[in-house]
Order: sequence, then structure tokens, then C-alpha cells
Amino acid sequence: RRQNSSSAPVEASSTTTLSPALPVTVFSGIQPTGSLHLGNYFGAVKLWTEIQNDPTKQLITSVVDMHAITLAWDPKALRANIRRMFIELLACGVDPSKTVLFQQSQVPQHAQLQWIFACLTTMARLDNLPQYKEKSATQSDIPCGLLLYPVLQAADILLYRARLVPVGEDQVHHLQLAQHTARVFNHHHGKLFPSPQRLPSDLPRVKSLREPAKKMSKSEPDTKSRIEVADSPEQIMLKCKRAVTDFPAEITFDPETRPGISNLLLLYKTIRAMEMDAVLEHFRAKDKVALKEELGEAVVELLRPVRENVRHLEGNLEFVERVMEEGAEKARALAADTMRLVENLVGFRSD
Ligand code: ATP
Repeated sequence: RRQNSSSAPVEASSTTTLSPALPVTVFSGIQPTGSLHLGNYFGAVKLWTEIQNDPTKQLITSVVDMHAITLAWDPKALRANIRRMFIELLACGVDPSKTVLFQQSQVPQHAQLQWIFACLTTMARLDNLPQYKEKSATQSDIPCGLLLYPVLQAADILLYRARLVPVGEDQVHHLQLAQHTARVFNHHHGKLFPSPQRLPSDLPRVKSLREPAKKMSKSEPDTKSRIEVADSPEQIMLKCKRAVTDFPAEITFDPETRPGISNLLLLYKTIRAMEMDAVLEHFRAKDKVALKEELGEAVVELLRPVRENVRHLEGNLEFVERVMEEGAEKARALAADTMRLVENLVGFRSD
């Protein structure tokens, strides 16, 4: 295996020199809360498909269904979304022969390690996290799971002793909690966990097409706010056409004062692999209608193979099931390794 899972405790410091023979473990997760969108793609998934081809890294990626039940859920929809997420990740190029791709709930050690971490984390620290404040503000009966969400995320990452975490900007605070948790555990129980560092993508924050002050999100009820990877060309063109911008007619780039149009320009720039100056020059004599249309065409082109792969995989569900089973098996073996060390360090067992 290419996994850094020796049973000897690893040094906690992020500056630890690694043996060149041991690839660096990279962990990332995605919630099965809906269809994969351009934000997920450019914030995380595209980077995963690059990392998995880097022989110095071992990518572990989880469909984090336990995170998806921190807000009200419907079991039937969840079941469908889990499978859908596997299909879409495979369609985007995540390769199960290179990446450990698995469903979080099928690896019980995530919940076990989360409990230990929950006992090492203060309520005050969790209460202050921006994403919790935002999500809890919309409801009165807040489940404990929502507060514990980042603790579970810390367990996800540290269970594989990952050093790198490719996530979008929305996850920065959660990653800081994972670093803090590693420090607290190492301080009280012995050096086991490295301090995980964020691996940023080219486009770490794609904005909503309807409310550019917000990020593009799977669970937002207005589906016109996002482009999903399996959207039809007609849907993509329409969503781009309807994207909210502002009043001025000219095309300028300023994410602070003009978030809507800047978001479209950034997407165009990333898809066409151009510098922003070249993009602005390209649209200098054109209007916003042209920008939306050309962006739509670029997105259709980008997602055409993904859409075809989705269709192919939908007709090949046995393969998808097999990927899910084999991924869980690999992840359980890796997780068991770390958990045995953790249980010894915290006093649950003495091998
Ligand atoms: P939900 O709406 O259910 O909270 P989400 O769309 O925010 O879901 P997650 O499953 O929480 O997505 O995140 C999966 C990955 O995609 C994470 O690495 C996250 O940082 C990244 N991501 C999510 N939304 C965006 C975005 N708008 N721009 C860039 N990256 C994003």
C-alpha cells in the first residue's frame, strides 16, 4: 500500500521531515446533500483528480453521510444522494484504483474518534465557529450534531493522520479546529497526529449565481443558484443567462464591489485557463450578455464528458456498488490502525 500508516506514532509537528518513501496522506470529504456543483468542482474535486496522480501523495476521499444528517434529512433522499455522489465523483475523474473513495458511515472509527475528540473540545470553541452560527441561526431546535460537526470533521482528517486537506475557503475555520484538536490530543496523550494543512485550489470560493454575496451551495433550495455537473446544456445556458450581476454596463473585475460579475469572470478565467487581464481584454468591447453566453458555452464544454460519464455509470450500478464496498474495506483497515494507537494512548486498552 502507498499509505503512511506505520504503527509507530508519527511526529505531531507539521515540519516533520518525511521519508521520501512514504507518500503524504491527503484527506478530503464531501457531503451527499445534493448534486455536485461548480463550487465543489473548482474548490475541491478538480484538485483531487490531480493529487491522485501525484506519486508523492495518497488521497483519501469520503462521502461524508454522517455530516449530512446534522440538519433534518429524509432517509430515502439520503440513500439516493449517497449513490449519486459516488457516481458524480467517478464521473469527474476520481479514480478508485488510485484514491481510497469511501462512505463515512461505513467506517465506524469516525464516530469512535469523534467521541474522544468531543471530550477534548470545549463548547465555547465550537459555539464560536462561523458556519455553526450561520446554520443554527435559521432554526430554533438545534441538534447537538450540528455543534459537533467540526469535531467529526477533525476525526475524519486525523483518523488517517492526513497532513494535507484540499478544501474550499468555507472550511478554513474547521481546519483550524482540527489543528487545535491534534495539538490538544498530542499534548495530553502523546504525539500521534500531524497538524493538517490546507491545500488551496485555484478557485477556492465560487459564489452563488443568484446571491453573489453567498457561496454556491448544494443545499440551497434555489437550483438556479448553482450549476450542477450533470446539468443539460440548456440548463447551463439558462442559469448563466439568469446569473445576477449589477447595474453598470461595463465589464470590470472587483470581487469586493462587484461580486456577481467578478464571479462569472473568475469562472471563465479558470475554465479557459487565461490570465484575468487577457479575459478583460477579450470582453473589453463586449457586454454582460456576451460574457454570460460565452461562459455558458465554456461550462457546457467543460461538463460534457462528465455528463456522459454520469449517464454511463447510471447504467453500470454494479460497478458503483463495488467501488463503495471496496473503498469502505480499505478505509476500515487504515482507520483501525490509527484507532488501535488512540485507544492505547487514551487508556481504553493496553496492547
Ligand atoms: P452544503 O450546501 O450541503 O453545505 P456544499 O456545497 O457547501 O454543501 P460540502 O459538501 O460542504 O459542499 O463541501 C465539499 C467540498 O467543496 C469542500 O472542500 C468545500 O470546501 C468545497 N466547496 C463547497 N462549496 C464551495 C464553493 N462555493 N466554492 C469553492 N469550494 C466549495
